[in-house]
Amino acid sequence: MNLETVIGLEIHIQLKTKSKMFCSCSNQGENQPANTTVCPICLGHPGTLPFANQEAVNMGIKLALALNCEINKKSVWARKNYFYPDLPKGYQISQFESPLASNGHLTIFAADKEKRIGLERLHLEEDAAKNFHTPEAVLVDYNRAGTPLAEIVTRPDFKTPAEAKVFLQNLRLIARYLKVSDADMEKGHLRCDANISLRPIGEEKLYPKTEIKNLNSFRSVERSLEYEIKRQTELWNLGTPPKITTTRGWDEKKLQTVEQRTKEESADYRYFPEPDLLPLVFTEADIAAIHALLPELPRAKVLRFIKEYQVNPADGHVLVEDEQVADYFEAVMTETRAWLEANGDVLGTSEEVWELNKKKMTKLVTGWLTSELFKLMNEAKIGVKDLKISPENFAEFVVLLYQRKMNSSSGQVILYKMFLTGGDPSAIMEEEDLALLDDGEQLAKVVAKVLAENQNQVMDYRQGKTPLLKFFIGLAMKEMKGKADPEALAELFRQHLDD
Ligand code: ZN
Ligand code: MN
Repeated sequence: MNLETVIGLEIHIQLKTKSKMFCSCSNQGENQPANTTVCPICLGHPGTLPFANQEAVNMGIKLALALNCEINKKSVWARKNYFYPDLPKGYQISQFESPLASNGHLTIFAADKEKRIGLERLHLEEDAAKNFHTPEAVLVDYNRAGTPLAEIVTRPDFKTPAEAKVFLQNLRLIARYLKVSDADMEKGHLRCDANISLRPIGEEKLYPKTEIKNLNSFRSVERSLEYEIKRQTELWNLGTPPKITTTRGWDEKKLQTVEQRTKEESADYRYFPEPDLLPLVFTEADIAAIHALLPELPRAKVLRFIKEYQVNPADGHVLVEDEQVADYFEAVMTETRAWLEANGDVLGTSEEVWELNKKKMTKLVTGWLTSELFKLMNEAKIGVKDLKISPENFAEFVVLLYQRKMNSSSGQVILYKMFLTGGDPSAIMEEEDLALLDDGEQLAKVVAKVLAENQNQVMDYRQGKTPLLKFFIGLAMKEMKGKADPEALAELFRQHLDD
């Protein structure tokens, strides 16, 4: 049977406000001793009244706007009733019929293709406390009770587990750019439930779904969905596809999903409008004011990098993965551009010089940044903000390569020194005596010597074994103690061998 996969996600993002959603307790409770960032409001004492945190509301709107949602002019708080020890009031304040925002979308870049994922809604709510299961008892830490969450519900637009993973990674990145959340899955700042069902290809209707709960890493999202595809495919092939909606948990050790319970329908929560809070009301001007505060978002940045610097799309996505890396890249490009415009080897206006050379320069910058420099940073476990190499020095380093004043093997030595000391690349090149010898006469002498000493290989080359060029270059490089430009050598050898 030909089946297709239908996946939708429900995501909770913890907002990093100063205080909780409906009281003035600190929202830093996860770093504090248990049950110390609490008050009668978030402990649900009778007679207390909640008040909505304006900072959380603004963050919710920022996130909704970044996800291309429509902000609802009026949204209503609602009580979601259920009984559980981590919910002291016996209900959670959430939003139901009128959420903060609806009808958004996010375009992701998965498997080399762009794909638009629809978003049904984004609403605000408070988090529950945290339960700790010990052999003797269940302990509850109320520090998390009442902390603000944005819940995002996507449309069932994902066709593969990989798309779901990429979407979550994009969402994390957007939350970080907006500074509304660190969105760390491991720390529970970004939590995801995934809904999945299969259906025969060509059918439009949705079959009963399985909801996978408590996925706490991108990898487990992908793996658990892959597992479910296999499990449900077998059920379909046996003629017994799932008949009811079920909830399953992901067992990270056994790498399988485990049935938990049949899911409550929303009727079981007996939602009703929260009588203790006024609806949230926004004017166009309120929304426009927040819209004006949005930074350039990752996707817009990638598209601009492609347009402005001719970055290739894959590199562009790597660069924007960390906003500080993206800023560093741009600072380096600005410096190399200034250099090119001042020293361009082409006649023309500075604009023309830049247009003619930028692609080559971008390739050098992204290549050395994302491979060599990232490798050094990873090994030392540091980020760009702790990097000793200033964008000016990195730009100068790239310019030396561009001018062929050093080759890539001396480049590696120099970059490593710069990484350790923050030193200036020209100075290091002098100190270490790594500058290339661009003395044409000397190069010609070495080339002649190598050819004279390897007559047999010269004959083989002339009979068609052209890969021997690398062998000749290697020998000449050795003669020059590594201080030659391999491309210049290749050119000289070709001149001798090809005529
Ligand atoms: Zn409180
Ligand atoms: Mn929720």
